[in-house]
Amino acid sequence: MGVMDRLAMAGAQLIAFALPPRCPGCGVVTADDHHFCLACWSKLDFLGPPACAACAEPFEQDAGPEARCGACLADPPAYDAMAAAVAYGEIARRVALRLKYGGRPGLAETIARQLERHASGAADMLVAPVPLHRWRIWRRGYNQSALIARALVRRTGGTLALDLLERRKATPVLRGLGPAARVKAVRGAFILSPRWKELVKGRAVLLIDDVYTTGATANACAKALRRAGASQVRLLCWARVVRGRVDDVDFPDPR
Ligand SMILES: [Zn+2]
Ligand SMILES: [Zn+2]
Repeated sequence: MGVMDRLAMAGAQLIAFALPPRCPGCGVVTADDHHFCLACWSKLDFLGPPACAACAEPFEQDAGPEARCGACLADPPAYDAMAAAVAYGEIARRVALRLKYGGRPGLAETIARQLERHASGAADMLVAPVPLHRWRIWRRGYNQSALIARALVRRTGGTLALDLLERRKATPVLRGLGPAARVKAVRGAFILSPRWKELVKGRAVLLIDDVYTTGATANACAKALRRAGASQVRLLCWARVVRGRVDDVDFPDPR
């Protein structure tokens, strides 16, 4: 190796070592890894009570921890409960897209840190991602929800079950589809992988996804897990579309 090569290599190492932490939302230099800058942090709309006990749709007024929204009363979801860290908006969307397409797998750790407070009991649960069809994985290289699930289990404990569900149907792009069309598109799309057939019986499952739009995908997954004998299915997402709070008309395509 020549002197110039050595210098170039030392330089590259120095740059890698000295690479400053950056805001997951906008990329400005921050004090610590996985910390948002003040501007992005203040734009994030953190979700919590009061909200629907099933789908986490925020309530204007606290109606108690068991209260459900009208939609969940009329048509109860197949999952028992759902939580999301933030409402879907400009910064939440940017983080989700950079994890999904931007080659920034480290953002799974950023998201896992925000999910941790919603993940009580995870240590005793099977933690599984909403699966991608294998064609999508081949094209993209990874399932973003699997990265989040892995990062979360590192923090909370629990049984990581990356292949708990399989997607046997390549569903069309859901963007632009209304709620009813979405339900139809994912019907029968998920099955339990045979390997977990006995192991899932009587177990509580924490299902991980990046973005929750209408709940059609999560419901289809929860139904498959219920049929397989799971005792409980909880859903945990990075961002949830909340009516009236979407400041960006470009709706997400969760898959
Ligand atoms: Zn920022
Ligand atoms: Zn609800």
